[in-house]
Amino acid sequence: MKVVSSESIVLRQRDFKDRDRLVTFLTRDKGKLTGIAKGVKILTGRGVGSYEPFTRCVIYYAEKPSSDLVHIRKCDIVPPYLYLHPGYDKFLYLTYFTELIEMGPVGAVEAPALFDLLARVLARAAEAEPADFPALRLEFELDWLHCAGLEPEWRHCLECGEPIFAGRNGALHPRRLTAHQFDVPRGGLRCPNCRRSGAGCHDLLPGALAGFAAWRWPAGELPAETPRLAGAVLRDLQEAVSAHLLHHLERRPRSLALLPGGEGAERVVPAVPAAPAD
Ligand SMILES: [Zn+2]
Repeated sequence: MKVVSSESIVLRQRDFKDRDRLVTFLTRDKGKLTGIAKGVKILTGRGVGSYEPFTRCVIYYAEKPSSDLVHIRKCDIVPPYLYLHPGYDKFLYLTYFTELIEMGPVGAVEAPALFDLLARVLARAAEAEPADFPALRLEFELDWLHCAGLEPEWRHCLECGEPIFAGRNGALHPRRLTAHQFDVPRGGLRCPNCRRSGAGCHDLLPGALAGFAAWRWPAGELPAETPRLAGAVLRDLQEAVSAHLLHHLERRPRSLALLPGGEGAERVVPAVPAAPAD
């Protein structure tokens, strides 16, 4: 069998027989693969400890035409080495990020963008403080939605098509200074003139939208400092984005319930069937 190698990130591993592990990993060139790593369960085995989740590495493996599983030969861990301890919270967030990656399409076409997204969030997570993780989560979810072609329509009103934001003092602000509406089934914003009542609609105040624009589309190419989202703004945006995300997923990610706080996850409006086009 021909052995090939791929730049990889380990997503998860589980025991397999007495001495082996089944390792699921995201490669940059072929998407998600699962393989048997032989002998790595025993303490003296070669490669023991190499297959921890979130490890960046080059994995050498052989593909068998008759099997979905590859045979893993070895794994070379590559820099940056991520020291994610201490912090169980970090582990929970990263478990959620990798689960989300696995829930979308992860073939060769999607792989490079998803690989780069996961690599970026792992590097950020290694440096981040626990307080940074809620914003990191929102950013990851928005980037994942972008990779999946499911990003909400933030820039124009779903109904009248008018731009939501206008430039002022070098930054973007909502053009109308009353509550806008995020429509979950339709995946976008309505301006205050076009608000309507209905299930799956979240109010977003102008402050939340201004915070979002400054955070997501900072003015100038090199902002002096990435703006931080205020707690209330982050909560409002997370609630809308969580509802949008869950509306598009086949099932609720298991790791979502374990995230610290869980407020964004628990307060979402249940997804409702999309309204017929009018
Ligand atoms: Zn409108």
